[in-house]
Amino acid sequence: MGCKRGIYYLVAMLCWWPLLSSAAENVVSSSQNKALSILRDSIAIRTVEGYGKVPELAHYLQKQFLAAGFDQQDIQILPVADTVALVVRYRARPGATQKPILLSAHMDVVDALPQDWLRDPYTLIEEDGYFFGRGVADNKFAVSVLSATFMRLKAEGYQPARDLILAFSGDEETQMLTTQALAIEHRALIDAEYAIVADGGGGLLSESGEAVSFTIDMAEKTYASFRVTASNPGGHSSLPRKDNAIYDLAQALIKLDAFQFPVMESELTREFFRQTAPLIDGELGKAMSNFVQGRNKEQAIKLLRSKPDYVGTLGTTCVATLLSAGHAENALPQSASATINCRIFPGVGVEATLDTLKKVMANKALQWQVLDSPKESDASPMRKEVFDAVARSIHPYFPDLPIIPHMASGASDALHFRAAGIPCYTLSTIFQKSSDEFAHGLNERVAVHNLPRSMGIWYALIKDISQE
Ligand SMILES: [Zn+2]
Repeated sequence: MGCKRGIYYLVAMLCWWPLLSSAAENVVSSSQNKALSILRDSIAIRTVEGYGKVPELAHYLQKQFLAAGFDQQDIQILPVADTVALVVRYRARPGATQKPILLSAHMDVVDALPQDWLRDPYTLIEEDGYFFGRGVADNKFAVSVLSATFMRLKAEGYQPARDLILAFSGDEETQMLTTQALAIEHRALIDAEYAIVADGGGGLLSESGEAVSFTIDMAEKTYASFRVTASNPGGHSSLPRKDNAIYDLAQALIKLDAFQFPVMESELTREFFRQTAPLIDGELGKAMSNFVQGRNKEQAIKLLRSKPDYVGTLGTTCVATLLSAGHAENALPQSASATINCRIFPGVGVEATLDTLKKVMANKALQWQVLDSPKESDASPMRKEVFDAVARSIHPYFPDLPIIPHMASGASDALHFRAAGIPCYTLSTIFQKSSDEFAHGLNERVAVHNLPRSMGIWYALIKDISQE
């Protein structure tokens, strides 16, 4: 698939190049340089939970926006505990009546231990065609290119037909308190017709570097964890009895292992499989189209469920992730507990999932606890104008590339915006191979070719969605 796309891209770039005046070329290259310098400076600030460094990054960005001509009153830094959110409003031309559009990303990162990395994670390093550093992909790339695009539009005197709002959260990787504060307490500052969240979805490259597809996340599964505990009076281990907390829990977990939640589908997941099927060779692609068309469905489901990449698209999944039991080598266990992490299909609900787990484990003596406060959110509606605008921004680089709606199995800031009634479309302008995916992991990287192209895509997309 798409073997000619790289060549199209090159030809398209070469064809356009002479058409750009040198002044326009300067604007383009200076905005790319701006994005790169913001990326370099932001990677150097270790915005990890507990370090209290997010405010430093927010003040640095505030300075950049002020220097680019944004009004002080349109840049807000909103403290929440030891972190902050940053909101920048790009004012519409006078007389605008349409609701704003929100663009969001996050400033915090998952920690990286310098001793484990090949290069210093908090220094942007360019090597072998890649940028390396903690956050180069997740999510400081988006912070940098979105900021630099706003600055470029300002420098060009662009006047949108509706306000554009940039919101950067400060604890997406942990508590998401800044996101919740934005969605609820500071709603007036960020209220929008819809949000584009630049932290998920995006372009997939094959291992040989050809573009395969571009996905936009429109829904997220609900993240919920439950602790299940078996209790027992215990006693001396030299006097064993039939009742035993560890055995009770183990038997319950074996029942969970054998259980599968019912297959679920939605307009969104059917559309995802329908569009992904032709991109995937062999039996798997065939299983996707059979699933959508209802042919040999049982067989299709069996194959799809055997693939970790697709099992979550077919319904709720719950899996045991933590275990703790007993208190002494020579004592009968007084308690045994397991944590079960679930990714719940939109619409099913946390309570209903807990009821199912209780039925499956079928032991009334087990005690259950819902951990944290899971947040449920329904899928956002399909908005053709968003998909069309994304296609118009991507296709100059990758003609005809399929733009595919998707349900994410993980959670992002979109969860809280969506739960607060703001439809969200999550996309990243990064195109990468599956083998280059190192977000949250060691030696996080992004291919350098993404930077100029992402600046072009965001520039086109933001103008497209904010003109009339
Ligand atoms: Zn992220």
